[in-house]
Amino acid sequence: MGLEEKLPNGIVLASVESLVNWTRKASLWPATFGLACCAIEMMTSGAPRYDLGRFGMEVFRPSPRQADLMIVAGRVTNKMAPVLRQIYDQMAEPRWVLAMGVCASSGGMFNNYAVVQGVDHVVPVDMYLPGCPPRPEMLIDAILKLHQKIQNEPLGPVRAELAAERRAQGEKLELLPSSEKYAKKDRKTGEVKAEHVW
Ligand code: SF4
Repeated sequence: MGLEEKLPNGIVLASVESLVNWTRKASLWPATFGLACCAIEMMTSGAPRYDLGRFGMEVFRPSPRQADLMIVAGRVTNKMAPVLRQIYDQMAEPRWVLAMGVCASSGGMFNNYAVVQGVDHVVPVDMYLPGCPPRPEMLIDAILKLHQKIQNEPLGPVRAELAAERRAQGEKLELLPSSEKYAKKDRKTGEVKAEHVW
């Protein structure tokens, strides 16, 4: 017997964490930011055939201050890296990064001194999407996985530490929360210091 049985019909119970995460995942706004050929596929995703508007994401924001998702669509050159970082720093928090395609994820076939070998050298990446180029269906799949990840983000340092403890005890989760992945660890004890929390 739970509290639900004592309540009249029409009452919905939810945790603040799941409500906050639900609103965050359902209101992702991408920054207008395309670097190379992958950007064509990204633009196609917003067009009527694939319709990113189903997730409220069809308008790519012209100002990073109105955006909380950076889709890195294309290879990142060394010259572009500081610009990319500046845009990331100007974006609203909490913010997420999706590396679209092999070039953004790892440098891809451009194994040379001019191209950054993975945008995670410049910004923390929450979701990697393979392919050259990934089709719009793949981008939408990566966005849905990112939604799933955002929905499971621990809210606040205490929840983040509890989640890290559960994981250390063997709890399996398909997608590791970003706040845990990028948490700082104590060098001596190896304990997670949940500083990267939202
Ligand atoms: S992954 Fe392929 S399509 Fe995307 S930027 Fe690189 S070369 Fe272009």
